[in-house]
Amino acid sequence: MSETLYERLKQDVRFEEGLNACINCGICTANCPAARFYDYDPRMIVVTVQTLKEEEIEGLLKGDTIWYCGECLSCKTRCPRENTPGYIVQALRSLSIDTGYYKYSKKGRQQIKVKRTVGDNILKHGYCMYLDEITLEEHPEQGPVWDWYRNNAHSVLKRLGANYKGNGAGTMRDISQNDLDELRQIFVETGAEERFEKMEEYDHERK
Ligand code: SF4
Ligand code: SF4
Repeated sequence: MSETLYERLKQDVRFEEGLNACINCGICTANCPAARFYDYDPRMIVVTVQTLKEEEIEGLLKGDTIWYCGECLSCKTRCPRENTPGYIVQALRSLSIDTGYYKYSKKGRQQIKVKRTVGDNILKHGYCMYLDEITLEEHPEQGPVWDWYRNNAHSVLKRLGANYKGNGAGTMRDISQNDLDELRQIFVETGAEERFEKMEEYDHERK
């Protein structure tokens, strides 16, 4: 018999760390910044997972709600039972990608964008946000001054004390190939690289 979703969640160290026993008090939701702005309730996520019901957990994996968490971990500091809903959400997100269920929700499908920006930037440049990759076309919210800033980045950033694309220490320095190789190795060892590849495969199938 194949493993249940709950059994798969239990293999994730974040889930094991994040769930002790929830008493449904709602303190995590009261403190959660994401719950203030979205239709999002970490208490309900923990309670749902705790039912151990396959179809309920599948519903979470296929839904939008798990993608609203900002991973700030305010919930970790306040829970009277030392649960961490934020860790549980992280484990649910990983499982949602591994099972391909993330494709069922709009927010889930948007994750390929996050992977192709933040994720790929880390592997390529060592930074999650990398100036050269932030174009006005992709990020119109940067405003019309953005192109000027990018064209004058070296002189502007020098005045601000950054070491843009320089060697040695300093903000925005070039990250050496050795360091990038180490970084990639971390992604390989933790399974993150495999998860990235899966997302690309799923996205390709969808088209
Ligand atoms: S604060 Fe802790 S015990 Fe209370 S609802 Fe949230 S996870 Fe459950
Ligand atoms: S980690 Fe997520 S669930 Fe926890 S308080 Fe932050 S946004 Fe809310």
